[in-house]
Amino acid sequence: MDEMVAVELLSTHGLTRQYGGLVAVDDVNFKLYQDRLHAIIGPNGAGKTTLVSLICGRTTPSSGRINFKGNDITGLSSAKRVQAGIVYTFQVTSIFSNLSCYENVALSVQRNLRAQQKGTSLLERWSMVSEADIEKAVLKYLLEVGLEGVDNQIAGTLPYGHQKLLEVAMSLAAGPKLLILDEPTQGLAEVEIENLTQLIRKISKSVNVLLIEHNMEVVFNLAEYVTVMDNGSILAEGTPAEIENNHAVQASYLGN
Ligand code: ATP
Repeated sequence: MDEMVAVELLSTHGLTRQYGGLVAVDDVNFKLYQDRLHAIIGPNGAGKTTLVSLICGRTTPSSGRINFKGNDITGLSSAKRVQAGIVYTFQVTSIFSNLSCYENVALSVQRNLRAQQKGTSLLERWSMVSEADIEKAVLKYLLEVGLEGVDNQIAGTLPYGHQKLLEVAMSLAAGPKLLILDEPTQGLAEVEIENLTQLIRKISKSVNVLLIEHNMEVVFNLAEYVTVMDNGSILAEGTPAEIENNHAVQASYLGN
């Protein structure tokens, strides 16, 4: 990415979250730029999930601010942040295992399409979105993640790797400007990881992606920029090559 034209998408300012005496996120100033696949890594308990929970509004900060696309979103509810385009995979996408793949994605599509309508009442907004619009969108997202043809299958009966793809389809259907993927490859087999890696790369061409990931191969394969957290703070930031050669990171985390 050309630093001269980098556009800031999100920033945190002195962001802090305490749990009793424990400071899970400690005065963090974090910046995300548009069109740059960004990964956060760090040992267990470093504060990665707490940081993204603060960003998506699942957790309230003890102090500090969050800016998204030039607006202070610190006080917004998580639902309002989804509408603003911040979509956290496991916030929107826990799949309904007794519904079909189609129905799962349709729930996300309906919510997003109806939220976009300008009608005054809920009923009015609902009636403005046709079944045909919904079907078209659902099939598009299923195709995008490679799940075409299984629309009628009950989600709970899909192999685990395909359930992950369904979650990604549901997240995309929410219309994200920033898609936060928290350990998407956890529990997947090697071939499924390869498949999901390619999908994330493809998605990142049109949606800003923030990835939290323990699998270093996936991180160094995908990320254009890496933030390393340790003990609630940012330990280092840089390109994957810079991070690999950073002595502090090697000492504390990469185990070299
Ligand atoms: P992992 O890689 O294991 O998911 P992480 O980097 O995401 O770890 P967090 O889950 O953000 O780390 O946790 C940071 C610290 O905050 C940990 O010490 C954790 O025990 C603590 N913590 C997180 N959530 C809570 C909570 N709801 N109540 C109390 N302590 C919490």
